[in-house]
This record gives sequence, C-alpha cells and structure tokens, in this order.
Amino acid sequence: MKNNRRKFFKSLGLAAAGAVVTGLHSKKSNASEKIKWKMVTSWPKNFPGLGAGAETLAKYINKLSGGSLAVKVFGAGELVPPLGVFDFVSSGGAEMGHSGAYYWKGKTEAAQFFSSVPFGMTAQEMNSWLYYGDGLKLWEKVYEDFDLVPRPAGNTGVQMGGWFNKEINSTKDLNGLKMRIPGLGGEVLARAGGTPFTLAGSEIFTSLQTGVIDATEWVGPYNDRAFGLHKAAEYYYYPGWHEPGPTLECIINRQAYNKLSDEHKSIIDIACKAANIDMISDYMSKNYQALEYFKQEQIKIKKFPKEVLAKLNKISDEVLIELSQKNQLSNEVYRSYTNFLKRVRPWTLISEDGYLSSFE
Ligand code: CA
Repeated sequence: MKNNRRKFFKSLGLAAAGAVVTGLHSKKSNASEKIKWKMVTSWPKNFPGLGAGAETLAKYINKLSGGSLAVKVFGAGELVPPLGVFDFVSSGGAEMGHSGAYYWKGKTEAAQFFSSVPFGMTAQEMNSWLYYGDGLKLWEKVYEDFDLVPRPAGNTGVQMGGWFNKEINSTKDLNGLKMRIPGLGGEVLARAGGTPFTLAGSEIFTSLQTGVIDATEWVGPYNDRAFGLHKAAEYYYYPGWHEPGPTLECIINRQAYNKLSDEHKSIIDIACKAANIDMISDYMSKNYQALEYFKQEQIKIKKFPKEVLAKLNKISDEVLIELSQKNQLSNEVYRSYTNFLKRVRPWTLISEDGYLSSFE
C-alpha cells in the first residue's frame, strides 16, 4: 500500500510532499479504519471540465489514502440541487462539496472574491493570493460561521467574453443588450445599460436561438462547443472580463474535518492542490482544440474594443467598492484582494504579458 502511494505521489511530481504527509504522526490514522465520505457537487455527473474536476479530486483522495478515506461523488440533483451544496455540507448532510464560491453571495457577500470578480486576478495570481498571500486564511474566516473548511480545487482559466448576435463596436452597443451573465458581471452590464439574465446552462441555447437573449457567456471554447452555442450566435467575443480566473472550491464540513487524522487532512490539502492544477491543464488542452474547431468552422472571433473594456472596468471598480461596504468581512477581503492585485499585476505585465505581447 505504502509503495503504491509513493508511486502515486511520484506520478504527481509530489515525492517531497508525499514524504511530508507520511512523516506526520501527531494524530495517526488507524490503518484498518475505512472512512466513507460523500461529495455533493453543483455539476451534472461527469460534466466536462468542472464535473470531471470533482471526480479527479475524489480519485486523488482515494488513491493517496490507499482507500482509507473513500470519497464518492454525487452529481447535481442526485442528493441536492446544484445550489444546495453549501447548506447540505454545512449541515453535515455530506462531508464534502465541490462548487464555486460566487454562488454563495446570498449567504455571505465576501464569498465572491474567492471565485472570480470582474477585472480581477488571473488564475495564477489567484493561486498566489490564496496560497502565499492572505487569501485562503480569509476564505477560512469567511466560511467559519457556516462550519465549512474551504480549499481551492480547480480553475477554468480566463473565460471567453461570450456569444453575441450583435456586434459590439462601442459602449452604445451595450445599451439594451439582453445577455445571460450572472453575478457581479451581470451587475456591471446592467449599469452599462444592458439587461442581465441569469439562466441555467440547459436554458441558454434555446434562449439565444429564439432571440429571448442577444448574447450569453458560458465558459470557454471547450464547454461552449459542447453546448452548440456557435450554432445560435454569430460572434464569439473575448476576453472574459467578468471571469478572468475563476477558482472552484472544495468545501468540507468542519466536524467531519476535525475528526480526521493529520495524515488524512494533509492528503485532502495535497489532493486539492493537485486537482487545482489538473483542472486548468485539462481546460488548456481542451480549449485550444475547440478553438481550432471554431476557426475551421470560420466562426467570427472578435476582441472587445478597448473603449468598451475601459468602461466596464470603471463600473466594476464601483461595484466592488460597494460590495466592500456591505459588511466588515467584505471590507477586509476586498482590501486584501485589491492590495494583492495592485502589487502582483506589475509583475504579471512584465513577465507573462511582456513575453506574449512581444509576438503581436
Ligand atoms: Ca462563466
């Protein structure tokens, strides 16, 4: 068993981490004891990207623990509806959940900073804030009242701006634009003169095809192609200003977590980190292939004009300031997030952007 586990760590490039885990013995796990956990998710079973990410996380935990912590994944609707995950895990109905923190703004406004905010951090900047800044500590503080322990467990990378049946040439074209865009992005669009819609994934295609909406955002080429959105809209815009690097979450019921051995706690931490990098790597490999397909199909792929992005960015700043004024905790998270972004961004621009823009 131990050998298998070492092999598995090695396959993840986590040989050193494996040594750390097996070296922790302050609260030993009982080898004969088998713990069975349920993981509820906000995604249909095996949904490409997100649902696959939940399965990957469960698989890592099962393998790293040599089967002593066995996690079974339930798709949306199997035990609870997609947006029932937070309450269900909080109350101990399931020990674990896989979802996105921005769904929980009705519970706590500050949650939104831990997935993605308009014109916020990229995936790598988010990881840096969460793991090496105050991000994860604050996230734990925000979820404390709900008896939940959060861990980053995936990222889609920067999303696409969406599918439009109207060309966007200036800020005037946002006036009266009916677009499926939930959350803070929708709030920003409303203030720019548009009408945001919140529609479930299953309703998007028909609403776009029948003209109920003029535009929709979803995820990126991989998920968008699976929904057939290119058959219902003329233009595919980028970048996804509203979701520049959305983090997905693993949430754990606090009582269940506290009962675990230190070894099992470390396994969950390492499995979440591995699932985090696996999801963004999976998206990268599937997105470029779907983009190649869209190019073959001669889909019109367009960049939002600078003027439009500048206006949306300015409105986003106002929306985030208002969010920071909702309560003390939102304010604390807002300050940490914006300060980190202000300091990390100049390096992102010099490094990643400096390199990539030299080929333009
Ligand atoms: Ca989206």
